[in-house]
Amino acid sequence: MAFESLSERFQEAFKKLRGKGKLNEEDVREALKEIRRALLEADVNFTVAKDFIKRVQEKAVGEEVFGSLNASQTVIKIVRDELTELLGGTQSRLTVSSKPPTVLMLAGLQGAGKTTTAAKLAKHLKQKGKSPLLVAADVYRPAAITQLEVLGNELNIPVYKEENCQDPVGIVSRAVPYATAHLCDTVIIDTAGRLHINEVLMDELIHIKETVHPHEILLVVDAMTGQDAVTAASAFDAALGIDGLIMTKLDGDARGGAALSIKAVTGKPIKFIGVSEKTDGLEEFHPHRYASRILDLGDVETIIEKAQAAFDEESLAKMKKTMRSGAYTLENFLQQLQSLRKMGSMSSLLGLMPGIGKYKKELDKVDLDGKEFKQPEAIILSMTTAERTSPNPKLLIKDSRKRRIAKGSGTRVQDVNRLLKQFTEIQKMMKQAKKMQGNKKRHSFLP
Ligand code: GDP
Repeated sequence: MAFESLSERFQEAFKKLRGKGKLNEEDVREALKEIRRALLEADVNFTVAKDFIKRVQEKAVGEEVFGSLNASQTVIKIVRDELTELLGGTQSRLTVSSKPPTVLMLAGLQGAGKTTTAAKLAKHLKQKGKSPLLVAADVYRPAAITQLEVLGNELNIPVYKEENCQDPVGIVSRAVPYATAHLCDTVIIDTAGRLHINEVLMDELIHIKETVHPHEILLVVDAMTGQDAVTAASAFDAALGIDGLIMTKLDGDARGGAALSIKAVTGKPIKFIGVSEKTDGLEEFHPHRYASRILDLGDVETIIEKAQAAFDEESLAKMKKTMRSGAYTLENFLQQLQSLRKMGSMSSLLGLMPGIGKYKKELDKVDLDGKEFKQPEAIILSMTTAERTSPNPKLLIKDSRKRRIAKGSGTRVQDVNRLLKQFTEIQKMMKQAKKMQGNKKRHSFLP
């Protein structure tokens, strides 16, 4: 998980502080020493770590935390604010041109995740109501063009490519008018990478840049390469000039050294992060939220956003209507389960809860996204429409049907029984909620 080991180290340092009540200068100095070690172990650039500690120390002195009662809270807040700054301060959004199409050019070394990210970004923008066009300009790796086409097909997003054309500058210059003609408002260019930075690569990228004048050049870097990602970012910025970064594979980077150093070293913000291989594994990067996650202070804003995206207005209105009518069925239950699933895996959601770090060891033992949590959906999907939409499914689902449903869903009859019992309990709660609402209406003259 992203920043896992760093997060553990921070929590250790804070645990000691919290246990102390009033703090003296020595306590804070000790904690900061530990934080400095944690940053260095996380592969944070040495100067960046040193400056970080200096700033926290200065602020702690400035805020006169020593001897005050909630000193540890104040120190944690200072660390969170500084960590937010280190990660880039405020969120850095993508430019949107007032004269479409907005042209976004992706660059990066081979294997950094450019092609995958191009597709992820297109999907993200499509979800936000844009109509993107993907452009396959990585002509030296034929697999990259096919890869982009496959992803584009899967996401129902058009891909511009030219068979047997070895001239990326030509492709790109023809792709932009193609986007205009086909009413695409955003062009995402997947350029070629190399194993190492070299002049030929840079010349080609500069040539593309001078031909299409992209609104943004986004450098894709692999978080797992640590300080190499920072070095690559500096080199690309010096030669090409970049506007921001997309940091991939943060899901596999427990240390987080690149994410924590890259803004301070290059001055360029991380705009998106890649958190899985799948096409929905791209997140806008919010420094404040990530700082809170690292310090185990939770990230409630992301939970709310995920919920808003998963439960669109129509399904929320439908759910409200069902709750009011009291006619809650297995079909409604299924819809809710599916919306919840859209919010992401159970383990990733739990990871956003404040204070969850303390329970990590226990939670690791439970298979949160395992078959037990997918079973209810499979069971309901094996039922008939009549069973799913009946207000009292138990009347219809007798023993032989239970056996059939268990077989169809790859579960056991006990599992079907358990689901029906759970459902009856939820139904009861819904009825009670409805009754309470009714009472409230009758006594509405009460304050
Ligand atoms: P390119 O050479 O820069 O175009 O890289 P690709 O897009 O082909 O990606 C290289 C590998 O990294 C592929 O196996 C991707 O599935 C994987 N990858 C890309 N982004 C992520 C990410 O955010 N998380 C994980 N776990 N894998 C990723």
